[in-house]
Amino acid sequence: MTIGLHDAEKEHMKRKTFPNLALMKLSAWHKSRKDPVEWWNPLVSYERIYSSKVFDFTPENPYLPAGTIRGGTGYPDIPLNSQLPPEIDRMFPDYTLYPACDYAIGYLTRGCPNHCRWCIVPQKEGHVRPYRRWEEVVRQDTDKLVLMDNNILASDHGIRELERLIGSGYRIDLNQGMDARLVTPEVAKILSRLKWIRFLRFSCDQRSQIAPLCRAIDLLGKYGIKPYRIFVYLLVTKDLEDASFRTEALKIYRNINLYAQAERNDRMGINPSSLQLEFQQRYIYSGCYRKETWEQYRERKSI
Ligand code: SF4
Repeated sequence: MTIGLHDAEKEHMKRKTFPNLALMKLSAWHKSRKDPVEWWNPLVSYERIYSSKVFDFTPENPYLPAGTIRGGTGYPDIPLNSQLPPEIDRMFPDYTLYPACDYAIGYLTRGCPNHCRWCIVPQKEGHVRPYRRWEEVVRQDTDKLVLMDNNILASDHGIRELERLIGSGYRIDLNQGMDARLVTPEVAKILSRLKWIRFLRFSCDQRSQIAPLCRAIDLLGKYGIKPYRIFVYLLVTKDLEDASFRTEALKIYRNINLYAQAERNDRMGINPSSLQLEFQQRYIYSGCYRKETWEQYRERKSI
């Protein structure tokens, strides 16, 4: 059976750097059955085409043939909780699809026990549960391991796996951010002993997370993790005063790294305003937040 794969983000973004895990597993599964697999070419006829789209805002390709098997949270008509069949999900990803990718990606846990208003994870993945051991996810040709777990510290299995990674030689990134409320002294010690690709990432999406995050940063500081190694995702809702408040509260840590994400959810009809995008793209990304408040920035820019 000839297989064509379509990665909507790869097609749309000029410099796509993040590989699509589902497509890599589909590719591995079909190749294990000796099926020829390649990136979808509209001029070629395939017996089966798979398309994956992760983000709402990535445009759909109108030229994909009828009958294309589509998946991913970016397709609004696909149920959020749809999953790969187990025999495909357990495949080791085919990294040859993304030759520029020099790290392993995957999950040690799935799901999250929380129900944050803006987040699709509980609907998509359900409650937190063990998923893999780290040895099943790493690659032999690189020491980098990017984990996409949504709330790894909410899982005993997740914490134990992190602990087992100490001394393994692998450098990790938890790219979805950790929940600072779950950083106990024991967890802080584990985190401080791991090798990180670059940052330790946390989320601060509402004011109630400021105090736990500051406590976690202070705790990590005692184990030698300096604030310049901390990276914080800030959700930016229409309440920009709230986003500004969180920004100012975290700036007490010199050289901390903030990353704003304007709230967007096409399925719920939520789209960011131009001011939210200004906060995200110009005020935070450009680093202006380091030397002025949001109010000062707005005054300077007359917006
Ligand atoms: S804690 Fe994180 S993953 Fe869990 S529901 Fe909230 S935002 Fe989503």
